[in-house]
Amino acid sequence: MAYVDLDYDLTEEQKAAQDMAKRFALEVVRPKGIALDKLADPADVADKGSELWDVFRTYRELGLHKRGLPQAIGGLAGSVDPYSSYLINEQLGYGDGGLSISLSAAGSPFAYAGLSEDPEIRGWAEDYINDTSGEIVGCWAITEPDHGSDWVHSGEENMGQEKFAPQLRAVKKGNEYILNGQKSAWVSNGTIASHASLHVSLDPSMGMHGTSVCILPLDLPGISKGKALNKHGQRALNQGEIFFEDVVIPEKYMMMDLATVKDLRQATMGVDVGFIAGPNTGMATTFAGVAWSALDEGIRYAKERIQGGVPIFEHQSIKLKLMRMFQLVEAAKSFSRRNFMYTVNHTTGSSPHAVSAKAFATETAFNVASEAMQIHGGNGLTKEYCIEKILRDARASMIEDGTNESLLISAAGFL
Ligand SMILES: Cc1cc2nc3c(=O)[nH]c(=O)nc-3n(C[C@H](O)[C@H](O)[C@H](O)COP(=O)(O)OP(=O)(O)OC[C@H]3O[C@@H](n4cnc5c(N)ncnc54)[C@H](O)[C@@H]3O)c2cc1C
Repeated sequence: MAYVDLDYDLTEEQKAAQDMAKRFALEVVRPKGIALDKLADPADVADKGSELWDVFRTYRELGLHKRGLPQAIGGLAGSVDPYSSYLINEQLGYGDGGLSISLSAAGSPFAYAGLSEDPEIRGWAEDYINDTSGEIVGCWAITEPDHGSDWVHSGEENMGQEKFAPQLRAVKKGNEYILNGQKSAWVSNGTIASHASLHVSLDPSMGMHGTSVCILPLDLPGISKGKALNKHGQRALNQGEIFFEDVVIPEKYMMMDLATVKDLRQATMGVDVGFIAGPNTGMATTFAGVAWSALDEGIRYAKERIQGGVPIFEHQSIKLKLMRMFQLVEAAKSFSRRNFMYTVNHTTGSSPHAVSAKAFATETAFNVASEAMQIHGGNGLTKEYCIEKILRDARASMIEDGTNESLLISAAGFL
């Protein structure tokens, strides 16, 4: 596109990172995402022969999955500057929102595992770092059939009642925990994941306040998977249920025992511990990129399509529409970049900022994609143009990682 990116003062390293990610986004992520989106059966997306794995393999060959993991085990934490990382993630969103989420969710359990002192657990992170084939894939399993938004509100005072207790129970027996229950079909990478960070109930009488997280491999006896979820948008993103029936894990897989959960809750009562800031910072980044891609599709089409004897770009109404879209996209990029840099420099982030950045970026992606579809006229409704896919992908993002409404209501407690 002809307009400049206001980041004219990027360092050479940042520019190189952005250019590399842009090539990957445009040459691999975008076309593979479009092809995967068209598959009628979502099981075919997960199939070992599908184009999904080309995306995973290239991402890992580029070493992008190593960001955030300690250098001591082969990761790149501290050696890729945060702003470069932001620019990479924004470009991945530009390529395909759903695939971008799949790639980032794949690293979820290993971010914790890489910090473990335990050789077995740290070994999972090492295996992930060394895996360029896409065999080792993580997921973040939190949502349950009866508990979706409840998790977003989990830190709130009234959520400590038994009726809010998650269904997936972890019962301590000696040095082990026994897991029973299920996670819902919304778990990203659910049917392809080899490992999970899994949210469980330790004490149902404490409702949402009695929960912890464990990290575990998903090939243990008693674990099974559901069908790949068939859905409206982000169809390239694999999702599916995970079931747990008398699954035995050693206590070292549990990140916090009940006593620690209680102490932590006491110490952080009313404090923003960033439970929702981290994931929403990532969502804002990705969907600022999606919004940007929708704008560019609108501009591209407006300059190609001739009606009234001129490219429709020459009509004042289209120019005005595009400039309104441009304003929103620039605002979403600025906000999500600012929030990202705060979050990487302050461990807990700021929930009101992160959630607002997520809601703003996802709603911008949706509104801009809708306007870009209008600019496409009838063509915008066809599978010949990717704007209808971008619109569907953006629509899902307003529910993903917490509905924007629940996130905003919850973060309002920290104003
Ligand atoms: C693309 C995508 C990817 C996802 N990836 C993952 C993942 O990787 N892992 C995972 O565990 N989950 C994932 N999810 C699940 C997601 O986090 C949930 O869908 C979301 O939290 C909403 O839960 P729900 O769908 O059960 O809706 P519900 O909680 O049933 O909400 C329905 C409606 O009621 C409103 N509502 C609910 N409770 C309240 C309240 N207390 N106050 C006011 N309004 C309320 C909501 O805003 C919403 O409009 C994903 C979802 C999507 C769409």
